[in-house]
Amino acid sequence: MADEKDYKNSLNLPQTSFAMKAKLTEMEPAMLRKWESIGLYDKIIASRKGRETFILHDGPPYANGLIHLGTAMNKILKDFIVKSKTMRGFLSPYLPGWDCHGLPIEIHVDKLLGDKKKDIPLTAFREECKAYALKYIDIQRGDFKRLGVFGEWDDPYLTMKPSYEADILRNLASFFAAGDVYKGKRPVHWCPTCRTALAEAEIVYKDKKSPSIYVKFPLVSDLGTLAPALKGKKVSVIIWTTTPWTLPANLAVAFHPEYEYAVFEAGTEAYLVAKRLVPIIAEILGFPSPKILATIEGRALEHLKARHPFLDRESVFVLADYVTLDDGTGCVHTAPGHGYEDYLTGRAYGLEPYTPVDDKGAFTPDVPKYAGMNVFKANPVINADMAADGSLLHQSEIVHSYPHCWRCKNPVIFRATAQWFISMDRSRLRQKTLDEIKKVRWIPAWGEERISGMVENRPDWCISRQRSWGVPIPAFACSGCGEVLADEKRTLHVADIFEAEGSNAWFTKPAAELLPPGTLCPKCGGRDFEKENNILDVWFESGASQNVLGRRPDLPWPADVYIEGHDQHRGWFNSSLLVGVESRGASPFRTCITHGFVLDEQGRAMSKSAGNIIAPRDVIAANGAEILRLWIAMLNFKEDAPFGKGIVQHLVEAYRKIRNTWRFLLGNLSDFRPDADSLDPADMEPFDRWAMDRTSAVTRRMLEAYDAYEFHAVFHAAFQFFTVDLSAFYLDVLKDRLYCSAAGSRIRRSAQTALFRILRDSLRLLAPLLPFTTEEAWDALPAFAGKEESIHMAFFPEPGEDGLTAEERKRWDGLLEIRDQVLKELEKAREAKLIGNALEARIVLRVPGPRANELEAESGSLAVLCIVSEVAVEEAAGPDIEIRVEKARGEKCRRCWNFSPSVGTSSAHPDLCRRCEDVLADGKGAAS
Ligand SMILES: [Zn+2]
Ligand SMILES: [Zn+2]
Ligand SMILES: [Zn+2]
Repeated sequence: MADEKDYKNSLNLPQTSFAMKAKLTEMEPAMLRKWESIGLYDKIIASRKGRETFILHDGPPYANGLIHLGTAMNKILKDFIVKSKTMRGFLSPYLPGWDCHGLPIEIHVDKLLGDKKKDIPLTAFREECKAYALKYIDIQRGDFKRLGVFGEWDDPYLTMKPSYEADILRNLASFFAAGDVYKGKRPVHWCPTCRTALAEAEIVYKDKKSPSIYVKFPLVSDLGTLAPALKGKKVSVIIWTTTPWTLPANLAVAFHPEYEYAVFEAGTEAYLVAKRLVPIIAEILGFPSPKILATIEGRALEHLKARHPFLDRESVFVLADYVTLDDGTGCVHTAPGHGYEDYLTGRAYGLEPYTPVDDKGAFTPDVPKYAGMNVFKANPVINADMAADGSLLHQSEIVHSYPHCWRCKNPVIFRATAQWFISMDRSRLRQKTLDEIKKVRWIPAWGEERISGMVENRPDWCISRQRSWGVPIPAFACSGCGEVLADEKRTLHVADIFEAEGSNAWFTKPAAELLPPGTLCPKCGGRDFEKENNILDVWFESGASQNVLGRRPDLPWPADVYIEGHDQHRGWFNSSLLVGVESRGASPFRTCITHGFVLDEQGRAMSKSAGNIIAPRDVIAANGAEILRLWIAMLNFKEDAPFGKGIVQHLVEAYRKIRNTWRFLLGNLSDFRPDADSLDPADMEPFDRWAMDRTSAVTRRMLEAYDAYEFHAVFHAAFQFFTVDLSAFYLDVLKDRLYCSAAGSRIRRSAQTALFRILRDSLRLLAPLLPFTTEEAWDALPAFAGKEESIHMAFFPEPGEDGLTAEERKRWDGLLEIRDQVLKELEKAREAKLIGNALEARIVLRVPGPRANELEAESGSLAVLCIVSEVAVEEAAGPDIEIRVEKARGEKCRRCWNFSPSVGTSSAHPDLCRRCEDVLADGKGAAS
């Protein structure tokens, strides 16, 4: 008599080289080396030659520091798009780039050089900056490749390459050609620490404690002409401010033309404020019973004058619509050199943008009393002086949102300096850009409103910076008369020089060699010029990155998609749009996608100061890049994304489920030759056709989700299919057929045909998200005609045409419904200790008359689906199906563990059931 061990050898148990334990940290680097050695990226591109293109244009990360989780998230999302579009059949090359110029690198190199900086020429300093950028490009490139991101890593675009620099100037030339570039004195955000102008996109808002003061300006004008009650009265207007240091630059007080203002008497003096605010102000200032003497319409106050509280100067009354009654007094201190609205109002009244503050944020000798004093340090001094002379009515402190420098994190000031600007309205750039925004598809949709609002409200673009690591603005000044020369023609001339020599040429060549030969001053006819020393805003440079498109047939302009973090609505998306609209007349992207930021598990931003930063390198070293990719695949990237230990644990578990499913499929295909052994759908078991039908439905859902950039929907459709349809049902039910049937039998080949297609298709569908594991499984997948060398050269599957008919689907719905009920009864029986394993059970279905015959015919299928030894059907009278669980009849087969009355009937194998005996008798039972 054979023992159990012998029977085990007769089963077709799973075999595969695809290990249960992933060892991603070893497998991934080996996979990367393999891809490199076969030149995979080039092969992918070659395989799509001549096909329609799909271009994701890379927003260049800054070449400074190590990548963080946010950078990793950004690159992985880009890779999801490029890989999925490639598998969808597009030619989708990915040209990565880096943003190389700008202040952060300049500051780092400053620190590295220390005192040495003074002894080296500017070009040598710029070479140091370049070396610094190259170092970090190398480091970041290594990290991006390690994430499994495919692209043209050997020849990325760099904003510091001569050809790129030349194109920046060619874009600038288009702005000159449109008449949009001008030089003007205007207040801009200014960082006194970094000593440069800052763009809107370089500002971060943080809470800051500031003084909050009420100051009186005694009126010069007599209000008696407006209200007889005030004739001869000594009246002061009260202003409120949080920046006492801007008072020396006060030139005006602004009133709303339509508000009602009041003069109230308190003690021996009378004060002018908005009428509605009188009670609030009187309380703050400690005036017990203010008596209103007269009311005046704001409009009537225009052109009246007050005396500056501590300077020998007058302050003129002006009207402005932006005056509100939300805080303050309704009478707004106006310093045209220190605020953008103030500047516009000042311009309307012929007031200059007066700025007695230098680039270090200290008062100039224009204000002798405070000259040399830092403006923030001057605040308490100015307050004390005003308190001493009685013009300060009240002071306290407030915490408010205040602009800070994005780089050094210090508070910035508004300061008027001579800068180069791009006008938003001279040639209707603003309106043209708003029109283009409407043509773009924004994902999520709120992006459109957000960027429209930013373009609608942005002031003219300040494009000049007073630093050295960047592309110079090619402007010249006549040595004779000071006339400034900067226009399209001369900019294009310098562009050609940069193309050949790089932008260092600006610093090594005299003006004469940078101007077209024979240039004369249009004003005085002079031939001598001096170079200006301003570089372009780096946002202009990165906005020019679209120039790398349109130069190769496989990289056309405009791009199909831009995708970056949602802070780029005012950064890169914004500058790219302006450059595209001005130089090419349209948006450089058709679709614009934004993603969220990375948070810790408590929902806090990751920062050095919070000490909660997790480095991608550490996650990769511990768990593998695939785990990071799985994280991105599982989350709704449009929202901010938490990450931490608990989430990693969850990811590792999810990964294991997917891997084990593929492993099971591979294990049961070890003896399957897809080309020779696959069955036609017509010859397959109905249950296998059901599984193929489910696979088609899931394929369709995943493809739709890819097309909508809903990667988490792609993943969840697959994961649901793996866990619910496959692991918990189909594969579980299939085990008996796979393990116990004759290896080459039709019913087993039928199952294997389904398993092969499920495996082949699910690997391809998940390859963009999990490129390492799918490739590993692809290598273990049996060979078939047309199997690509790498899964990443393959195409996505199409949903099968061989779906179920409506009738068949109805049959399955009915069977699965009964199965659900049976499983519940089996659970009860197990709890009552009637049975252990479900195979010990026999199910009796008591079915109402008409359905009894129908289900009688399905009893075999139902036994298989419920994994019980037998299902019997009895006719019953009641309206519902009743289910009874009994002990299975017969003995347990020692090979397949089913109970059957046929066990014991064979003399050769008295411990086997009829099915198992037949399998052994055929001699086909052995696994190989
Ligand atoms: Zn700064
Ligand atoms: Zn001149
Ligand atoms: Zn058996």
